Amino acid sequence: MRLATYGIRFDLVNSLLKSCFYESCQLSSWARDLRYKCVGLLTSASKSSLDFLLPPRCLICSAATDRGGAYCPNCWKDLPLIERPFCEQLGIPFVHHMGAGALSPKAISDPPLFARSRSATLFSGSARECVHKLKYGRRRELAKPMAEMMVRAGKDILQERSIIIPVPLHWTRLVERRFNQAADLANEIAAYTGYPIEISGLQRTRRTQNQVGLTGKERAKNVRGAFRVKAASAPVISSQRVLLVDDVFTTGSTVRTCVRALLSAGASSVDVLTFSMADTTANQTNLP
Ligand SMILES: [Zn+2]
Repeated sequence: MRLATYGIRFDLVNSLLKSCFYESCQLSSWARDLRYKCVGLLTSASKSSLDFLLPPRCLICSAATDRGGAYCPNCWKDLPLIERPFCEQLGIPFVHHMGAGALSPKAISDPPLFARSRSATLFSGSARECVHKLKYGRRRELAKPMAEMMVRAGKDILQERSIIIPVPLHWTRLVERRFNQAADLANEIAAYTGYPIEISGLQRTRRTQNQVGLTGKERAKNVRGAFRVKAASAPVISSQRVLLVDDVFTTGSTVRTCVRALLSAGASSVDVLTFSMADTTANQTNLP
């Protein structure tokens, strides 16, 4: 029973929850949500009681932690954080310091349409776990701590006010998944920064094939022309800086198509902020 991993100590509580006729996965999700919703409402004394009833657990592996909404030391150690030095435009980490404002060979040979891109982590280890749990495991409470890391990683590109826009899902996929992980991250980033958000500023005009397993060229072809700016959002972004938010920056095909649509609609510039960056030099058929 997955509930055990989230620290419900009392069989009584467990039985009570079971009696609500939820399926086990919905139930564990409910218990997890309950903990996170309660924490914001309780006094410190009440929080101690809550910690006793629902002990805080690592967001990734469910090991016991000192406080809620945190990673255990092992998972934290396994988070491949991206730190300077990195390419000023693409945010790709450098092995050695290359001097202030240095650009990677990739940025020089194939300049992107966006101004700057930042990612909090490489797409491996605990970071991959986080993305998968949020996206496929419906662990939506992960969006907040992941967004915190993104805000830290994007400190320089968040200096000036931008309009925050998430990479959208096609509406049919949104119905299937019931939430857009990029929109969850964008909402949290908007809450941290106080910047405006156009949650449906971009729209997917057609349902594209899942990008997982496609090579860079196949991905580019798959998403070509698949995004447009919603008519009502065009005046809002006109002559404004935009921050495009997604969970993973893979080959850049999706980002490139979104940025092209935003610039065509009148955005003055676009920066990109993602939680993870995939190593695209690795196996091209094994991209996230
Ligand atoms: Zn852990």
